Amino acid sequence: MTNFDRFPEELREYYFGLFGEEAEIIMEKLLEPVEKYYIRVNTLKVSREKLVEELKREGLRPRRSPHIEEGIYFEREGPNFPDDYNPKLPRVIVNKFAAESVYQGANLYAPGVLKADKGIKEGDEVQIRDPRGLLVGIGVASMNYKDMAVKKRGLAVKITKPKFSLPSLSELKSYEKGYFYAQSLPSMVVTHVLEPSEEDLIVDMAAAPGGKTSHIAQLLQNRGEIIAMDKSKNRLKKMEEELRRLGVKNVKLIHMDSRKLPELGIKADKILLDAPCTALGIRPKLWESRTPRDIEATSRYQRHFINAAIKSLRRGGVLVYSTCTLSYEENEGNVLYMLKKGLKLEEQKIFIGSPGIGIKGVQRFYPHKHMTQGFFIARLRKVE
Ligand code: SAM
Repeated sequence: MTNFDRFPEELREYYFGLFGEEAEIIMEKLLEPVEKYYIRVNTLKVSREKLVEELKREGLRPRRSPHIEEGIYFEREGPNFPDDYNPKLPRVIVNKFAAESVYQGANLYAPGVLKADKGIKEGDEVQIRDPRGLLVGIGVASMNYKDMAVKKRGLAVKITKPKFSLPSLSELKSYEKGYFYAQSLPSMVVTHVLEPSEEDLIVDMAAAPGGKTSHIAQLLQNRGEIIAMDKSKNRLKKMEEELRRLGVKNVKLIHMDSRKLPELGIKADKILLDAPCTALGIRPKLWESRTPRDIEATSRYQRHFINAAIKSLRRGGVLVYSTCTLSYEENEGNVLYMLKKGLKLEEQKIFIGSPGIGIKGVQRFYPHKHMTQGFFIARLRKVE
């Protein structure tokens, strides 16, 4: 299987139509983890300088973001071996989720195993492959092949050589203390583009698991009021835990379908719509399954949120619209829809990406140009 076969044919054609020859390098980059892995310092609890020192003591190599004051990143290591590395090692085939974790340095646990070569015993060196044959890591078996296939828990393979290595952060003391939140660079830019102020009534329409809501709270030093909603109960539960870990106190969480936001009768000063999207920009993805049909359907779905947001904004209020996808229809296409509805594009306080496709005033992040996830940000004002 070549790397391009990891994208459905219709999507490959779509990318070539949209990005021309750059589609190739974009697809290559989408299969890899980001080169710089970002975290956001939670300045409600600690300063960047203090956290940098603490992370160094914990054995990591943190670097300060030149773009965002509260941003820290770690350089990715790898690829640590070529695709044809030692093909004779016994094989363990794992599901997509486990493969993506091992690919970035995590150990392999039994629930992720789909199949293991007969005869593998504890202590054997093994190769881990995804269901489509990509080598994602090398490790040492912690159980025999039978247990790997049937056990519902436990370490199956201790990974000694992942394809790429990213620091494992959730076991750190500083994580437990709520000193940081793992968040991509473009995602941090979004909150700055919103320019929240403590006098504003702010609504976050698709908030869970709380990355951007907690960032707003932090910029407001826990003052003012943020109404955050999501329709997924599980994700809201996770968000509640995260807000507690981070010490966020000015958020009212609502479990609801935010397409019904106008029913609350709110007139918000600022609305953040970090829309559910096809997530085509997320890295790494060992393969993609979305097609242009999904793009079309999702962009239509997003317009329901946009209509609800426009109704619930006060005149003069600001809407920030963002996605983690690369398509035109979900991004510039929907901005054109908002312009037709009378909204006006506004300048973005931090602009470190590229202009949009056919629209200058919106910000795009590309995996091959900015070494980030694929991302999109627009800031609009309701003027009439
Ligand atoms: N803003 C979040 C953050 O920074 O952590 C990420 C949000 S994620 C891109 C999109 C969210 O939209 C998901 O949590 C999903 O559950 C939520 N969602 C999807 N459809 C929804 C709906 N009809 N009403 C409310 N939330 C919805």
